[in-house]
Amino acid sequence: MLNRRRIVTFVSSLCLVLGQQAATVAALDAFFCESNPILYSCVSACSTGSGSGASALPSSINVTTGDGGGCGSSDPNANKQQIWSFLKGKGLTDEAAAGIMGNMEQESSFDPKATNSIGCRGIVQWCYGRNDLLSSYASERGKSWDCLGVQLEYMWHEMTETGEGSVNSSGQQLGIPLVDALNGKAFNGSSKYTNSGAYNAGQIFHDYFERANVALGEDKGRGERADKLYQEFTGKASTPLGNSAAPSGGSQGCSGGTSTSGGPIPSANCKAVQDTFNQLVDSGKITLEIPEIKDDVNKCSEQKLERCTGGARAQTIRGLDAIAQNSGVDSIRLWNINEKHGCDQFDHPAGLASDIKQANGVECTNSNPEACKKVFDYAIAHKEELGIDYIIWNGSYCQQMAASTPDISCNSDHNDHIHISFKDS
Ligand SMILES: [Zn+2]
Repeated sequence: MLNRRRIVTFVSSLCLVLGQQAATVAALDAFFCESNPILYSCVSACSTGSGSGASALPSSINVTTGDGGGCGSSDPNANKQQIWSFLKGKGLTDEAAAGIMGNMEQESSFDPKATNSIGCRGIVQWCYGRNDLLSSYASERGKSWDCLGVQLEYMWHEMTETGEGSVNSSGQQLGIPLVDALNGKAFNGSSKYTNSGAYNAGQIFHDYFERANVALGEDKGRGERADKLYQEFTGKASTPLGNSAAPSGGSQGCSGGTSTSGGPIPSANCKAVQDTFNQLVDSGKITLEIPEIKDDVNKCSEQKLERCTGGARAQTIRGLDAIAQNSGVDSIRLWNINEKHGCDQFDHPAGLASDIKQANGVECTNSNPEACKKVFDYAIAHKEELGIDYIIWNGSYCQQMAASTPDISCNSDHNDHIHISFKDS
């Protein structure tokens, strides 16, 4: 087992609030890099000390025109109107739009040109690698980084496509899309957000996207601002969560607080997990690179296995069932369980590991395809329930996630599959 390192709730990826004292900046930079859970390119930025370690723009980024309206003005009220229209145009509830804007008001007073003393910039105060990616995004579209419309598009891209907004500063996974959470859908941990819809959205956006310095109280005030903005734009007071509309498929109030990306985790009972596994193979949700995987599943054991005799432990099969059913992909392709590893000292010969080679028919290479990221995210988010011991994958996405999550390693020899090991218990 790797060390269970708790990431302290400290300086976060986006927002060191404007006016940070210069004398503390260097120390904060170092601490920021050490403690930042998911900052893009943080590792390289920290190692060079340059703060400019942005990797190339992800290939998936070229999805919008970067034209989220005009480039803004010096009039905060005009900017507010543009931002509200943009967010509502994306299908957000009034509460969710107000929640995001409560954060923007606190970070930048809706000024897209806002820059703080350590160079964090824009309406939500992007820092470090994320800041560099904003610049790349803008210049690819022939725009300046300080264009409000570009910043809105880039924020939306981060919220929906890059995994930003999926983890809080304690390393807890949101488990559902950030947009759904802001729109009022229940998620693991949502019960702690007990205020009005707009207030909650303001806090959720802070906790999962902004991740400001809680130790300095920078998380405070966002909910109050959200409530005021809600009133300003709708003319009514924000209602408590549970009374607000939850569009775009939101099932708040009906889901019993269970994350839809979670799904039930059955007990590690061989008969049950074998039956489910076989159904998933029959329906094509699990495909097999080698037929011996079926033999391993047929030799399921709830007890310790003799090494090198073939077979799979029930928790391994259960984990694969859960991933295939609940991770949000159409299919996973398994490379092996016990077979093909001889009698090495690792977990495969004890039936405690499996290699996932593809998701949605796409190889899980170090180019980090989206479907494989979903599998990886799901495994991380549910590692406790699933009894996952550790996960290995290569690639920049793994590097980002490993910064905040114990029991992940990003070995370069795992550049064509995701390895998952289950606990021997
Ligand atoms: Zn493996």
